[in-house]
Amino acid sequence: MKHVIIGAGVAGITAAKTIKELDRDAEVVVIGNEMFLPYKRYLLTEFLCGKVTQEDLIFFPMESLKELDIKLRRGESVKTIEPSKKSIKLLHNEIVNYDKLLIATGSVPKLGLVLRPYKNFIHYYYSLNDALVLKNKLPEIENCIVFGKGISCLDLISGLYNLGKQITYITKGKRAHFGLRESEFKVELHSFLEEKGIKIITEDRIVSIHKSNHRYRVETLREKNLTADVVFGWDRYKPNISCIKGTSIGKKSGILVNVRLETSEKDIYAAGDCVEIYHPCLKDYWINFGLPNALEQGTIAGKNMLGREEEYNIHETITFNLMGKSLKTRWWK
Ligand SMILES: Cc1cc2nc3c(=O)[nH]c(=O)nc-3n(C[C@H](O)[C@H](O)[C@H](O)COP(=O)(O)OP(=O)(O)OC[C@H]3O[C@@H](n4cnc5c(N)ncnc54)[C@H](O)[C@@H]3O)c2cc1C
Repeated sequence: MKHVIIGAGVAGITAAKTIKELDRDAEVVVIGNEMFLPYKRYLLTEFLCGKVTQEDLIFFPMESLKELDIKLRRGESVKTIEPSKKSIKLLHNEIVNYDKLLIATGSVPKLGLVLRPYKNFIHYYYSLNDALVLKNKLPEIENCIVFGKGISCLDLISGLYNLGKQITYITKGKRAHFGLRESEFKVELHSFLEEKGIKIITEDRIVSIHKSNHRYRVETLREKNLTADVVFGWDRYKPNISCIKGTSIGKKSGILVNVRLETSEKDIYAAGDCVEIYHPCLKDYWINFGLPNALEQGTIAGKNMLGREEEYNIHETITFNLMGKSLKTRWWK
């Protein structure tokens, strides 16, 4: 039986490991478009701050891949899926057949229409490559502008703060709010950040960015003119589902799955940040970003690809460490 997994992140690699641990004879191929060995994305800020080394980031070393006989094809991107032919097509047009397929392509930071023209001036912070580029630039960086929502924004702010950088955070909201659950701290967060020296601009947004003399001039809707050495931002995170475009695989913002992580197409599963799953309390589909979900969904998808019928139970919170304070947060919605 040939199991093909798209995406060498936590969900994809956990599924691959689960399959091989339960069935040594299964053929497992993981196709990932990053050049690195599978790494712990959630530790990128620790890496940026020099608290862990690049080696410490490795989630699954080469020896383990070899030991379990998992074939990892690094730096290769899946372009399309053909469920009727049980095959996928890679960017260089190679066709790979599968018996069972797992889509574990994670999410991507996205810019809205207003900021898209300035995308070359905005620094993303999602991959190890982003972190390596930033790490190289750090000595030249003093002032940073950060906009966007979500806990990874807070993670970045906390990292830049630990590195002694001056930070301006721009939010559309009335207060700095990153989806935290702990009600007390949720209210305190804005002043907590201000006390740490972070300048917060509320009810505003960036409308243009220009580069002059290695610095960036940022104009906001409320006509503030700011300058910075680097501008970070994204309007939102979106499940990365470009490889299912034009297929019959059911989707909303993410790939729709049932509790067994099966998609609408036979023998195709999905797990991790790219997934949208039915939430029985909300009575709607919901994207459940975060590491614990990716790990658990990877394990369940791997088992179910081998014919089991395990179900995934929704977890709504994840734990996050902010400048030494442990917080509970909802990653999404
Ligand atoms: C800075 C930062 C800090 C974070 N901190 C935390 C935290 O403290 N706690 C927490 O719970 N979560 C945290 N997260 C989120 C967590 O890292 C993600 O939820 C988790 O990595 C999701 O795992 P995944 O396997 O679903 O997706 P990913 O880790 O995104 O892996 C998906 C992989 O698939 C690849 N891929 C995509 N499309 C294709 C294609 N077509 N072909 C081939 N490969 C493809 C991608 O490049 C990527 O390598 C953080 C994220 C970031 C960016």
